[in-house]
Amino acid sequence: MPFAVFDKPGRFLRGNLHTHSTRSDGALAPEEVSRRYKAMGYDFYCLSDHFLKDYGFPITDTREHRAEGFTTLIGAEIHAGLTSQDEIWHILAVGLPFDFAPTADDETGPALARRAAEAGAFVAIAHPQWYGLTLADAEALDAAHAVEIYNHGCAVHSDRPDGTALLDALLSTGRHATAIATDDAHFKDTAEENADAFGGWVMVKAEENAPDAILAALKAGDFYASQGPELRHVAVDGDDIVIRSSAVEKVILLGPGARSRVVSGHAMTEARLSLAGFSGGWIRIVAVDAAGRRAWSNPARL
Ligand SMILES: [Zn+2]
Ligand SMILES: [Zn+2]
Repeated sequence: MPFAVFDKPGRFLRGNLHTHSTRSDGALAPEEVSRRYKAMGYDFYCLSDHFLKDYGFPITDTREHRAEGFTTLIGAEIHAGLTSQDEIWHILAVGLPFDFAPTADDETGPALARRAAEAGAFVAIAHPQWYGLTLADAEALDAAHAVEIYNHGCAVHSDRPDGTALLDALLSTGRHATAIATDDAHFKDTAEENADAFGGWVMVKAEENAPDAILAALKAGDFYASQGPELRHVAVDGDDIVIRSSAVEKVILLGPGARSRVVSGHAMTEARLSLAGFSGGWIRIVAVDAAGRRAWSNPARL
C-alpha cells in the first residue's frame, strides 16, 4: 500500500543521519556533537565521519552518548574512487559494524556500497548535486537505498543542496529509492548564517527508539524527510491523494516527466489533490510552509 508508513504502529522519531566530528574533518569532538543533537531535541543521530586512510578509517563509537530518549546509530561516510567526474565517491553508510574493513585501494564506489549494504548498512547517495554526480553514476551505485534529497551543509556552503533531480531521474528508470534530508554538519564556520547543523532531518516511524528498530525502518522506507513541516498522514482516497500536515502554504504532487500538481492556501493542514494522469508511475509529495521549508514524502508507486 502506498504511504503505508502513516498507518503503521509506533511514533515518528527525529534524526540526523550525516554529521562529522574531529575524528575526521569536523570541528567538534564526538561528545560535543552528540550533546548538541541531544540538546536540540533530536531522538537520534549518526556520527558519520569520513572513512578515509588519512583519518585512520574511523567508525566513531558514540554508544556512550546514548541516554534516555536519545540514541545513536553507528556509521560513516565511505569513500572510494572515482566517479564519472573523476571525483572520489561520497556514500553514506548508516549502521556499520565496528570491524568494517578499510577500503581497498582498487575498490570501486559501487563495490564499496555493496559491501556496506551486505554488512547491514542503510546506504545513501550523498549530496549528488554538490559533486556533479550523474544519473549513470547513481545507476551504477546499485546498493543505495536512498538519495540525499537535501543536504544542509551543501545548501549553506555551496548553494548545491539538491537531490531532487537525481532521485526523480532514478525513479523514472524503474529503480526504487527513498529520500533523506541531512545536515552533513562540520561545525567549522562559526558565523551564524553559515551554521550547517539542524537544517534537514528524517522522521522515522519506529516502535522503539533503538538503533536496530530505526535501521530496520530506514531500510523499509518508513520515514519522510523535512526541514520543518510535519507530514501527519498521506493516503490515496479513490482518485485523490489526501495529505494532512502541520500548517503549510503549498502541497505539491510530483510524478515522472513533467507531471506535477499543486494546491496552495494559507496555513493548510489538509490538502486533496487529484491523481488523474498519475497512474502507472511513481509519485511523491512535497509540502512547503510559510518560511519556504519543505517536507518530502518518500516516493510510492501507484
Ligand atoms: Zn561528502
Ligand atoms: Zn559529509
